[in-house]
Amino acid sequence: MSEPRSRRFAASCSDRWTRARAQIAPFAPAKERAFDARIDDDIARLLPVLGPVLGLFVVLFGVWDAWIDPAHAGLTLRLRVALVLLGAPAYVPGCLRWSVPRRCAAVYATHVGAMTICAALLRDGLVLALPGLTGALFVLALVEPRPRRWLVTAVFSALLFLGLAGLVLSGALLVDAVLLYTLSIPLAGGVALVTLALRRRAFAAERALLEETRHDSLTGALSRGYTTDLARHDVALAQRHARPLAVAMLDIDHFKQVNDTHGHAAGDLVLCAVVRACRRCLRATDYLGRLGGEEFVCVMPEVAAADAMACAERIRKEVAALRVPTESGALRITVSLGVAMLDRDHDRWETLLRAADAALYRAKTAGRDRIVLAAPDEGACARAHPPG
Ligand code: GH3
Ligand code: MG
Ligand code: MG
Repeated sequence: MSEPRSRRFAASCSDRWTRARAQIAPFAPAKERAFDARIDDDIARLLPVLGPVLGLFVVLFGVWDAWIDPAHAGLTLRLRVALVLLGAPAYVPGCLRWSVPRRCAAVYATHVGAMTICAALLRDGLVLALPGLTGALFVLALVEPRPRRWLVTAVFSALLFLGLAGLVLSGALLVDAVLLYTLSIPLAGGVALVTLALRRRAFAAERALLEETRHDSLTGALSRGYTTDLARHDVALAQRHARPLAVAMLDIDHFKQVNDTHGHAAGDLVLCAVVRACRRCLRATDYLGRLGGEEFVCVMPEVAAADAMACAERIRKEVAALRVPTESGALRITVSLGVAMLDRDHDRWETLLRAADAALYRAKTAGRDRIVLAAPDEGACARAHPPG
């Protein structure tokens, strides 16, 4: 009876352990880099505020020195000020050409180092300063929760404390100080791990939300808003460097009939199949956004008119060759495309898009299943047909 229970307990422990480890497991490399950069950003924002506060705290502790050991208070105050000033340049971004973790380690080592050295100079100071010194490990765990960096940052002051304790303390006081300090290391490490797990979870949730807003949930194409953001940036860049940029606006022909004849679900399958077909024809640097309904836009930076037309033709053919399997049989569809090139008249993304839209309208009126290249001044004309 007791064996199954103990086995169940062991299984639940191992389950919890696996889940806890999963909370702090690294993300995929690109996401992990972004997470690292986020933590560095947060520390970089904190350092100019937290650094001076910590520095002030370290110097003000000189009053405590004067209270417990007036004979050495003058010396420790000078030491405190000197070490805080030594670490102060690391508060300021760009003052030292150091990475953020290095700046954080410099502030921690000099400031906590000042507290430790001054405490060692006072009578029983190391024992009395123990709460402050161990507390610093916990504060560090909240600011720098990455275990390796937390350890690297804390190791200097930990060794300093243990070394000085060995020199100035003896007997029960030494055992007490060393025990308490070493015990606080895994405890603060645990706080770092919990902080890391929480921050990973928040980061993952934020990224998932961002991905959701950036993509169309049905087809996986980029959302209209995100496409506009990317395209505005690429248009500005292309104009600045006088580089080509092409846009192809795509609309599925007689799509309403697909819905009316085969149902909305079949229409959805068609939309997804068209997006997959477009993706097969685009380069890695091109992107596809859903403007709404059955209208899509392909943005092709660094692509000249001839290549853009060739790409549009590949898309048209690829879609025409599709046989979309539905409950009522395989569906065949066609698309019309309007291609526009960035030029002096298309100073904005909106103008360029309007030019592609006008060309698309011409492709529709000319019989559909075709591509039309916009005339240079086409964007200036207003859209002649309502959005589909
Ligand atoms: P044209 O060849 O002139 O483009 O004609 P069309 O029928 O493709 O264009 P129209 O604008 O008349 O119809 C577009 C249809 O697209 C109407 C709308 O119900 C349908 N639609 C819009 N969004 C979705 C969607 O997410 N899923 C499905 N299944 N249909 C959609
Ligand atoms: Mg249509
Ligand atoms: Mg339409």
